[in-house]
Amino acid sequence: MDFARIRRFTYIINSVILFLVIALAGFFFLCKAPILIWFSIPTLLVYILGYVLISKDRLDIYVRLVYFWITFYMCLCTFCLGYKIGFHLYCFSMIPIIFYTEYMADKLGRTKVNAFVASSIIAICYLLSTGYTAFKGPIYPVDNSIAGAFWTFNSVIVIAFLVFYSRLMLSLIGDYENKLKDAALIDKLTGLYNRHYMMEKLEKTVNDSGPKFVTMIDIDDFKKINDRYGHNAGDYILINVARIMREVCKDCDISRWGGEEFLIYSSGNLRAKGLPMFETLRQRVESEDFVFGEEHIKVTITSGMAEYTSDSSVDKWVNAADNNLYTGKKTGKNKVVY
Ligand code: GH3
Ligand code: MG
Ligand code: MG
Repeated sequence: MDFARIRRFTYIINSVILFLVIALAGFFFLCKAPILIWFSIPTLLVYILGYVLISKDRLDIYVRLVYFWITFYMCLCTFCLGYKIGFHLYCFSMIPIIFYTEYMADKLGRTKVNAFVASSIIAICYLLSTGYTAFKGPIYPVDNSIAGAFWTFNSVIVIAFLVFYSRLMLSLIGDYENKLKDAALIDKLTGLYNRHYMMEKLEKTVNDSGPKFVTMIDIDDFKKINDRYGHNAGDYILINVARIMREVCKDCDISRWGGEEFLIYSSGNLRAKGLPMFETLRQRVESEDFVFGEEHIKVTITSGMAEYTSDSSVDKWVNAADNNLYTGKKTGKNKVVY
């Protein structure tokens, strides 16, 4: 979540709380609980001040103020109306929010709320207010049917929140896990798989039956391109050669093996499927007009192919493709060797 979204979300939360404070002030009036009716006035002012703090980008102060005030509000409601009204249940939802806030503040480089200290304060307030009314009874006893209705309503809200929150956290963890997996297996510059992914893929495929082959591709005289047009131009060529590979080798696994070398895996017959495909790729790269700034850059590639043989290991298989690539380089480049 970026900061603008967090701010919008905080505006919504502040409005919801403000609405609840007004509704509850009406309820306190019906319960004839003057302390709580009068307390609703500073509470309203706190949430109006909340809008100012959010608009001034002072979420750190806002969060502290709101946590403090909600805790105070819950305790006072519990002292006045008793724990049977169920306001203290919101303590259970505040604790996970506080830990999430601490985490987000850390991520965004903002001043943090100490979640452990804040949770401990909430726990102490919870124990004091519920403990007191359990022993002594509330200041304004409420009719059992009203207390029961509030208990049920507050319980449902807190349980629904905890279920929603837990699901949200799990989906966030899932998203982060996928991002980490991608970061570990994908080359940042080209968006292709990296060598690590390809090694795992090849280790798995050797157990599958059916013909398969790999192709090792190297950009010709790439050092000269870097030297003549600069490193950024070199990167631009890598990105665009990768794009052409994706366009031509549609059902293949394409990896950046390292530097300006690529290893491509495909199932199927090397001669029937592979040769025409990599000859097409060679011609596409050769005929492409790579334009970087004012410069038109000519690029060629050399490919070495190797079919998998059942007595081979992954290393031997890849080496066979590499040897063919080496032959291609020694015999004039810009060719496909198998
Ligand atoms: P050959 O035709 O024999 O393959 O010659 P070559 O110049 O392509 O090969 P050489 O191994 O001499 O040079 C490869 C160059 O690729 C050297 C290195 O600086 C460059 N290179 C490796 N990775 C990157 C990269 O990510 N970006 C850029 N711009 N250059 C890279
Ligand atoms: Mg090269
Ligand atoms: Mg090379």
